[in-house]
Amino acid sequence: MRQRPSVGIELDPEHIELECAVAEMCSTVLSSIAEREETDPDAFDAMRKALAASGVLAEMVPAPYGGRRDRLDSRAIAIIREALAGTSGLADLIFVMQGLGSYALQIGGSEQLRALWLPRVATGEAIAAMALTEEFAGSDVSAIATTAREDGDDYVLDGEKWFISNAGRADFYCVFATVDPGAGRKGITAFLVEAASEGCSVPRLMETLAPHPLGVVRLDNCRVPAGNVLGEIGGGFAIAMQTLDTFRTSVGAAAVGMARRALDEAISFVKHRTQFGQPLSEFQLTQAAIAEMAVEIEAARLLVYRAATVKDRGAERVTLEASMAKLYATEAAQRIIDRALQLHGGRGLLRGSVTERLYRDVRALRIYEGTSEIQKLVIASQLLKN
Ligand SMILES: Cc1cc2nc3c(=O)[nH]c(=O)nc-3n(C[C@H](O)[C@H](O)[C@H](O)COP(=O)(O)OP(=O)(O)OC[C@H]3O[C@@H](n4cnc5c(N)ncnc54)[C@H](O)[C@@H]3O)c2cc1C
Repeated sequence: MRQRPSVGIELDPEHIELECAVAEMCSTVLSSIAEREETDPDAFDAMRKALAASGVLAEMVPAPYGGRRDRLDSRAIAIIREALAGTSGLADLIFVMQGLGSYALQIGGSEQLRALWLPRVATGEAIAAMALTEEFAGSDVSAIATTAREDGDDYVLDGEKWFISNAGRADFYCVFATVDPGAGRKGITAFLVEAASEGCSVPRLMETLAPHPLGVVRLDNCRVPAGNVLGEIGGGFAIAMQTLDTFRTSVGAAAVGMARRALDEAISFVKHRTQFGQPLSEFQLTQAAIAEMAVEIEAARLLVYRAATVKDRGAERVTLEASMAKLYATEAAQRIIDRALQLHGGRGLLRGSVTERLYRDVRALRIYEGTSEIQKLVIASQLLKN
């Protein structure tokens, strides 16, 4: 979609440069890997290597550990996700998981643990994952039942984590478990669990609508050193919320990227497809659809970059802004992609078409990192609390 990126959105010159560089990488290197991501099991590694070579993974780690900037830059992350998600759901996932999966380590890990893992996360040599959700603890994180029992200098973890992105691919998981079952959120504690640890396995992969490396992570008498505790004992709930607070805005950015791509596809299609003796673009119903899609994208984009800017200006928490951005952008993207598909008629449904891929890719965004319903609860609680 034609746009004026810096108008109404606060971007630094380096953000604009980043935007151009990532767009270039998407249209050259990544789009050819994306073509085979649904069928080729090696596509994950090819995509990981391409992203690592471009240096974008270094945006997910702070500078002392090989990252590109002193602290994570929400606008840079949004810019990258917006571009990647329009090209490849897999590229977007690999990129974001390096941040989401290592953030608990970044804010709660010992110096030694950070120095051991984060430089490898920045180069893509190590794959990160976050293991929060369980069979009976989805939206309600305080229901976590995976236990962590202190035993000498170690903790012993038992339980199962569900819907874990990068399950089976990750080198480590930031696992949230309770040291005090029955204490609710007060017992939740974060641990770094190496995937190679004895007792850590991936018994089952899960397949969803769109290809996404996802699975169950089982912890069976899994012993981790006490040095792998991230943050305070009992401080895991706050770490999980801080992580979501930091990355939710970027889910909105991915949604905007998918929606923009859908609109681009729709515009080029309706200009060429002729019915009743004229291009579809000449029909006013088509024009109304295009106009409405474009306005929704701009509104979503403003919310996303507003939340990112507030964060980059130093706000510790952006709970309200991030939830608004995620809620609106993901819901809007679903509507926009559906309309883009509709404008393509039957061709929009064909396997291998861009609209068909986007239609599947976008669905998960309204669920992970807090469903749309949970975003509404978060927004309302922020507004009603004073
Ligand atoms: C593709 C994908 C990747 C994921 N990756 C990860 C990952 O890497 N790590 C991880 O830990 N988790 C991950 N998840 C899990 C995800 O965060 C959860 O699926 C999500 O939080 C919802 O939990 P649930 O599926 O158990 O649904 P539930 O919480 O059971 O919700 C079911 C429905 O009930 C609604 N609902 C729940 N509570 C309320 C309420 N109080 N009021 C109104 N409605 C309510 C929900 O909005 C939803 O519509 C992933 C999920 C998907 C689909």
